[in-house]
Amino acid sequence: MSRHRNVRGYNYDEDFEDDDMFGQSVEDDYCISPATANQFIYSRRELQAPKEETLEEEEYEDEDVPMSPCVDLNLDPLDQAKLYSCLDHMRAVLGDAVPDSVLTQAALKHGFDPQKALDAVLCDDTKTAPVTRSGTEDVPLVDRVVQEKTPLPQRTKQETVAEKAKSRDAAPDKLDSEVVPKVARMTVSGKKQTMGFDVPSSGENGVIACPARRGDSPENTKATPASEAASKRPETPSKGLNADEGSAAATPGRSGKARQAINIKAELEKRQGGKPLLNLVVIGHVDAGKSTLMGHLLYLLGNVNKRTMHKYEQESKKAGKASFAYAWVLDETGEERDRGVTMDVGMTKFETNSKVVTLMDAPGHKDFIPNMITGAAQADVAVLVVDASRGEFEAGFEAGGQTREHALLVRSLGVTQLAVAVNKMDQVSWQQERFQEISSKLGHFLKQAGFKESDVFFVPTSGLSGENLTARSTVSELTCWYKGPSLLEQIDAFKAPQRSIDKPFRLCVSDVFKDQGSGFCVTGKIEAGYIQTGDKVLAVPPNESCTVKGITLHDEALDWAVAGDHVSLTVTGIDIIKINVGCVLCDLKEPIRVCTRFRARILLFNIEVPITQGFPVLLHYQTVSEPATIKKLISVLHKSSGEILKKKPKCLSKGMNAIVEIQTQRPVSLELYKDYKELGRFMLRYVGSTIAAGVVTEIKD
Ligand code: GDP
Repeated sequence: MSRHRNVRGYNYDEDFEDDDMFGQSVEDDYCISPATANQFIYSRRELQAPKEETLEEEEYEDEDVPMSPCVDLNLDPLDQAKLYSCLDHMRAVLGDAVPDSVLTQAALKHGFDPQKALDAVLCDDTKTAPVTRSGTEDVPLVDRVVQEKTPLPQRTKQETVAEKAKSRDAAPDKLDSEVVPKVARMTVSGKKQTMGFDVPSSGENGVIACPARRGDSPENTKATPASEAASKRPETPSKGLNADEGSAAATPGRSGKARQAINIKAELEKRQGGKPLLNLVVIGHVDAGKSTLMGHLLYLLGNVNKRTMHKYEQESKKAGKASFAYAWVLDETGEERDRGVTMDVGMTKFETNSKVVTLMDAPGHKDFIPNMITGAAQADVAVLVVDASRGEFEAGFEAGGQTREHALLVRSLGVTQLAVAVNKMDQVSWQQERFQEISSKLGHFLKQAGFKESDVFFVPTSGLSGENLTARSTVSELTCWYKGPSLLEQIDAFKAPQRSIDKPFRLCVSDVFKDQGSGFCVTGKIEAGYIQTGDKVLAVPPNESCTVKGITLHDEALDWAVAGDHVSLTVTGIDIIKINVGCVLCDLKEPIRVCTRFRARILLFNIEVPITQGFPVLLHYQTVSEPATIKKLISVLHKSSGEILKKKPKCLSKGMNAIVEIQTQRPVSLELYKDYKELGRFMLRYVGSTIAAGVVTEIKD
């Protein structure tokens, strides 16, 4: 039933009380604005390649990869990080036009202040700069760097390598091929995204003037080739099955309960050593350090091999983005790397002592909020990453950041447990006061957003240095005041949700692709029930049955999979063109409901324009986004008690709780919130902003 509760002996009232944000008021501002620029810092501390890779470093040198000057300058890790950050910043402006050595000289001279160093380089005064750090005063620093580079590199490198090898040796030795991270893409911005059902012709689009379509954010570019190609509007499942489905229904499938039944609960307990599965989404403002944090965590857990990490370090350095090496573990596409932002939801897996965690790295940039919604809709718990640096936390949290929007979105999408990684604590010298300031500001907001205080945990971290990620920190500046868990311990401590195993099967398709062999693959999260190979299921739309020939979970072929699993299914008996992202695969006998009109209880966020009858919105629901209108304003409700305050209001304004009737442009498949929480939640967006969260209370037609 719910992400977090067992359906057996289920008490809906209780659930609504503690898992419903709609009684809460959200007073603070809620807005989006362009991301703020950040300083990029890089540290090689404890992350370098171990001994056996010394050779490889040399290979890279042979390939003429510019060695980073700071390797040879014997800087302490913090200064190295500052230097890299400064260099990144400078390269972002200057590109490769100016040699590294000149940039380094300027950075050193100006105490790693990127602005001053840039000014210096641009004014060309670095060439004559006096040397300030050693006894070679009469040698320009550029030359000194070169001079120093020759005798020192191996020694410096080997020392660092020995240190690093020590920490790495602790991890079990794995073959390279075993430890390359497998990051699946949840390609929600891809061309296959569906927007509701097929429509007879594009001429119908005039029905709803949706201003959101005018924008150029990715949510507005999700044309569906298949839906355009199809010319017939499918009937809803409630109107009967087609011939194929009829025969399918007659075939004894799992839904017919005639096939060799498995005791799914017993099987599940045996799976993965009985470790429950946790779907975790990482959220936060762009540049807060989400990808770096999780990339580094995966690396420390041994999920990224040393060779790959080394390759990322070298490649990112070559691309002038050295500080992004860990982020590249999760940011896989060229565009993501070029832009330095996560766009799709990257998915991978890791294990804690007691859980198997499916990790989803959601994009922070406002342009990719729809992708983030899809990721968050599939999450059980979240890690909210905030940047502790002065000014940066404020930029992400106060006016214009995504911190609030993301937190609100995940809460609205059913996430109740949250770990807040107060990241980049190295930037503020691990100050307790800063940590407390952030915890109290954010804690206050999260409470308003509907999180229970007891379900929110603040953890100080440094994604770059790896401090307090998988093991408790040993940094004295931190340990003198922080005795709490590391991020991994906190993730391990999350309560595993109860899945809707007893409900009829539902899977929301998040990707469709052709694989080798017969049939094709669909990926998605099983929201309810379970599936066995050989089962026949109904795809809605197009309302046709198909057969599941194979099931893969985390690249492992299985005979069955269950609610909560992100699976890849090989399906046959249906044309690939008919299945799109947003399609729901469901039980043949008890299919998902389909409608164009439904009633919902919505919570309005901080909207500028009051909502009136006929207001156009974009309905975001699982992997679907569909133009819709607010057809009727039924009533305004009291925020806490839910009692009706006003019937048929003329308009709805910010922070209000209301019952409305929504009409979608094309049919969408939905469930009542009380039946399937996961499938009964949605978000409403308007011109690129999320304006409300809602739950389906009544399905009309
Ligand atoms: P995302 O947009 O939230 O995924 O952020 P990224 O992981 O791409 O990181 C943005 C920048 O912040 C990169 O230059 C990182 O090297 C830097 N960064 C990330 N974590 C830390 C940290 O803990 N300390 C410092 N000093 N910099 C960090």
